[in-house]
Amino acid sequence: LSDAFPPGAPRVLTLANQKGGVGKTTTAINLGTALAAIGETVLIVDLDPQGNASTGLGIDRKARRLSTYDVLFGDATLKEAIHETAVPRLHLAPSTMDLLGLELEIASEKDRAYRLRDAIAALHATETATRYTYVLVDCPPSLNLLTINAMAAAHAIVVPLQCEFFALEGLSQLLRTVEQVRTTLNPTLSIHGVVLTMFDPRNNLSGQVVADVREFLGDKVYETMIPRNVRVSEAPSYGKPVLLYDLKCTGSQAYLKLASEVIQRERALRAA
Ligand code: ADP
Ligand code: MG
Repeated sequence: LSDAFPPGAPRVLTLANQKGGVGKTTTAINLGTALAAIGETVLIVDLDPQGNASTGLGIDRKARRLSTYDVLFGDATLKEAIHETAVPRLHLAPSTMDLLGLELEIASEKDRAYRLRDAIAALHATETATRYTYVLVDCPPSLNLLTINAMAAAHAIVVPLQCEFFALEGLSQLLRTVEQVRTTLNPTLSIHGVVLTMFDPRNNLSGQVVADVREFLGDKVYETMIPRNVRVSEAPSYGKPVLLYDLKCTGSQAYLKLASEVIQRERALRAA
């Protein structure tokens, strides 16, 4: 058993891609829900000032008394900021717009990149806290201090890529940032996998993009692809994961499949 798997500690997976609109938040919500549905205990940490993961899980702005801003600033513990959701075993630490100012506010603090890592470690050390098996961190669409915190806290990165012509654009910059974080802040950081999102089987371009990405990234790409599915995009306006909104739709089924693939990779890592 390696140090990355101390007994009882959660696995921390960070959803990152500095491109907006590629499916980070949708994947955080629905992979989180799918993992919870198959028995894991999951915490989603919303690190995007937009708070789409928080809204999409039904936590209204008014209800966000304490947020990830307070946690990273140092005014609250992660445990204090956590909400339950409509999904059993799925909890959320919501964000607020205050996060926009955090980078400047803690710019001169020595531990500024480790605020999230330390908050998760403190949560794990709390006797009375829920024992999470997975923590999923939803990042903003940039490579700023929030994303760096998310990478410094993570065991591995999950990269959502949208099946569109420019899918690979910006990926080398993302991989360089992961490499920098690995050499400076978090030596055991790895890429867990790349998930292809919004796949449209009727669109030839989508198929070509999939072929190119698989050739370029090989087995880093999960077998499961998330299809473009209108139910997936409707669900957040009801404050629900798509698995609660329409379990039978192709999007829900794909996220369940992705969850079992993620768990399989985890088992392979543990055995290694
Ligand atoms: P990001 O967090 O990377 O900015 P989002 O997860 O918010 O991206 O997704 C961007 C938009 O695409 C949202 O409106 C979302 O509802 C929609 N979307 C994401 N995945 C799918 C999908 N599989 N099918 C249809 N719409 C999707
Ligand atoms: Mg998002």
